[in-house]
Amino acid sequence: MRHELSPIERFIVAHDLHRHVPVDLGPLRELAPVKFLRLSEGTLGGAFANEVGCVIGINRSLGRDERRMTFCHELAHLILEHPNSLWLCRIDGWWYSRYERQAQQAAALMLIPFEPLRRRLLAGYAVEAVAGAFRVPRSLVELRVAMAEDQLLPRVRMPQRTTV
Ligand SMILES: [Zn+2]
Repeated sequence: MRHELSPIERFIVAHDLHRHVPVDLGPLRELAPVKFLRLSEGTLGGAFANEVGCVIGINRSLGRDERRMTFCHELAHLILEHPNSLWLCRIDGWWYSRYERQAQQAAALMLIPFEPLRRRLLAGYAVEAVAGAFRVPRSLVELRVAMAEDQLLPRVRMPQRTTV
């Protein structure tokens, strides 16, 4: 799976996001105020932006790891300057729209640094354990692995064959 998120990769470097695992999102909170809202089940959250500023809403019924993912997903809509000024994002809907896919891939890139991921997969960690270490939902680890498959496959999933 190819991705086209170089602005996100630049953002990660600019904010030194991958210094620690799990990624510390605290310093990013000042970029956009966050409101925890009563939203319908199945809604992750939303982001709103206009000339004056922006705000991120997160469904307050979400657990810690889902909140972290949603914050990064919504922030990505803002960083990537997606069209429209309001995004409302559903748990099961992200793959239907190019912008939703980009935002979700961006969340995976922000929260799951490649080298620490690769090390854990090489060491045989289960997906749940990887998700626990990065404090993200399991689905985000699966997405991150799919995005990096061309880098991970030869070393992780296809060990060298020995000839007899
Ligand atoms: Zn979205």
